Amino acid sequence: MHELAITKDMLDLVLEQAEKAEAKEVRKINLVIGEMTGVVDECVQFYFGFLSKDTLAEGAALSFTMVPTMARCRVCDKPFELKEFDWICPYCQGKSIEIIAGKELFVESIEVE
Ligand SMILES: [Zn+2]
Repeated sequence: MHELAITKDMLDLVLEQAEKAEAKEVRKINLVIGEMTGVVDECVQFYFGFLSKDTLAEGAALSFTMVPTMARCRVCDKPFELKEFDWICPYCQGKSIEIIAGKELFVESIEVE
């Protein structure tokens, strides 16, 4: 259930920002989630529903941008989308690859009133 902790951290951050901006309410929260984090947007939405109760962020819309897992081949230097259990470069069949995207997990921006 790591979405609960993640949602709580996200909400704390959002409320801190909203207070700094002297906002009356948070309208929208834009989140970026990498596929590799395994975070499920519906779970975040669910936890947000009750965690945000009686806060400035109650009723705020959540917008999710999911980032696919991208890798780069160390042999031919080409980037490609990494499918599950497929740690082989589709261009040169090289097996030395590195992850370049998909581990993202952050609040991109918030919209306040
Ligand atoms: Zn390659």
